Amino acid sequence: MILIKKAATLRKYLDQHLASGQRVGFVPTMGALHEGHLSLVETAKQTAVITVVSIFVNPTQFNDPEDFHRYPVTIEKDVEMLEGAGADILFLPVTEEIYPDGLKNRETYQLGYLETILEGKSRPGHFQGVCQVMDRLLQIVHPDFVFMGSKDYQQCMVVKTMMELKGFNTQLVTCPIRRELNGLAMSSRNMRLSPEQRDQASTIYKTLCYVRDNIKPGPVEDIRQAALGMLNGKEMRPDYLQIADAISLLPVEYWDGKQPLVILAAAFCGNVRLIDNLLMGR
Ligand code: AMP
Repeated sequence: MILIKKAATLRKYLDQHLASGQRVGFVPTMGALHEGHLSLVETAKQTAVITVVSIFVNPTQFNDPEDFHRYPVTIEKDVEMLEGAGADILFLPVTEEIYPDGLKNRETYQLGYLETILEGKSRPGHFQGVCQVMDRLLQIVHPDFVFMGSKDYQQCMVVKTMMELKGFNTQLVTCPIRRELNGLAMSSRNMRLSPEQRDQASTIYKTLCYVRDNIKPGPVEDIRQAALGMLNGKEMRPDYLQIADAISLLPVEYWDGKQPLVILAAAFCGNVRLIDNLLMGR
């Protein structure tokens, strides 16, 4: 695996080493890697000739500065894991490479209602930051495919919208959620949980399964409230639990028994904010 820190060096390397028709797969990450990230690398390797992984903890997508400062950094272990997974290039830029015009002059994107619901509502400005970093990374890498996790379901929709707005010729491949044995969705933030908190945090997945297994055609507010109650615990408190249309992500109040749904939750375990979701019928 080659480690590249400069955007211009990465672009030059790809231009020199790509034969015509060879496909580039790209896996953007913020590091503190786990098996969920490696599953994206695995899928990228099956799809493309060159797999580029980026590690960049993007300051503009953190609405809470504390969360940014507490974000785990495990770069040596990450490099080892990526070597083991067979990634070809690790792009490790500093902030100035991603934001050459500084952090103040940033583009804004017309994301419509996607920015006002769920993660967009709970984390103002978050998706603008996601678009800013993804826009720049895609301009540098020019990948044929970008691989992202459906754990960040709304983020996938936002990035797809941004790519359409900007006319990127890149296909978004959404990969399934990798989980711990207890059901907890793998996340870099799990490193900040104690063993007991990890155990409690598995309630999020159990709650999503409860909704999937018990939802009936008709009004869904009662089961939504019951699920919100399940997310309350000694160390846990819910941020939201929403039953939404799997395609538009708009909240569903009355389910006809057929409409594909996604059940999404965000909850705090101690001071760590976790998200998860479960698709039904897609
Ligand atoms: P992050 O480093 O948290 O920004 O995540 C980088 C990419 O990995 C994103 O596309 C995430 O959706 C994806 N990802 C994070 N956790 C998981 C997981 N448990 N399973 C699959 N993909 C994941």
